Amino acid sequence: MKESIVLFGPPGAGKGTQAELISELTGKPQVSTGDMLRKAVSDKSQLGIEAKKYMDSGLLVPDNIIIDLIKNRLEEKDSVSGVLFDGFPRTIHQAEELDKITEVKVVISLIVPDEEIVERIVGRRMDPKTGDIYHISFNPPPEEISHRLIQRKDDTEETVMQRLTSYHEQTKPLGEWYEKQEKLVPIKGNETIEEVGKAISAAISKFR
Ligand code: AMP
Repeated sequence: MKESIVLFGPPGAGKGTQAELISELTGKPQVSTGDMLRKAVSDKSQLGIEAKKYMDSGLLVPDNIIIDLIKNRLEEKDSVSGVLFDGFPRTIHQAEELDKITEVKVVISLIVPDEEIVERIVGRRMDPKTGDIYHISFNPPPEEISHRLIQRKDDTEETVMQRLTSYHEQTKPLGEWYEKQEKLVPIKGNETIEEVGKAISAAISKFR
């Protein structure tokens, strides 16, 4: 059976930033439901049109849409030995469905206090050319690319409050669910990118 890794945490915890490192370490492709949904929105597919309503207001997209997306993604060739999930699962129901198609080996949980989340998200910028993520104060981009950086539509202060509420109500209980299964590895997410990366590498090496 496929063996997968889950990167878990609140919005803005640094999951996308750290996913690249974990992919390099493990050879598992990053599967980000947020990125897949944003692609569907920009393609204006039926799924994208449906998902956009939820994303723009900071709500979770319904489980059935997400589960179909993941089932199709896991049939692709590059995922034969498992993948790295970033931003999925986000509900216990999603996790139960996931258990039917892959074995979750370890869940890396990035811990960042709520009071830091808003600042982290509102200052976040993305390079549309490379997908690299920056922060205007904590991880400033090189000057020559700063003109082309974009801000995600849902990275505003108003939307972030709803995203945090969705996280606490629907996603956080999933952390406890994985903790009971002894799969959860908590890692302090409010250190430098390098320090968080080192802690993740150490955690992952134990599971290989
Ligand atoms: P992210 O890029 O992971 O922050 O996701 C952006 C938005 O996409 C979220 O606020 C949700 O609306 C939606 N989304 C992403 N992943 C999921 C998921 N696993 N379940 C439900 N909604 C999701």
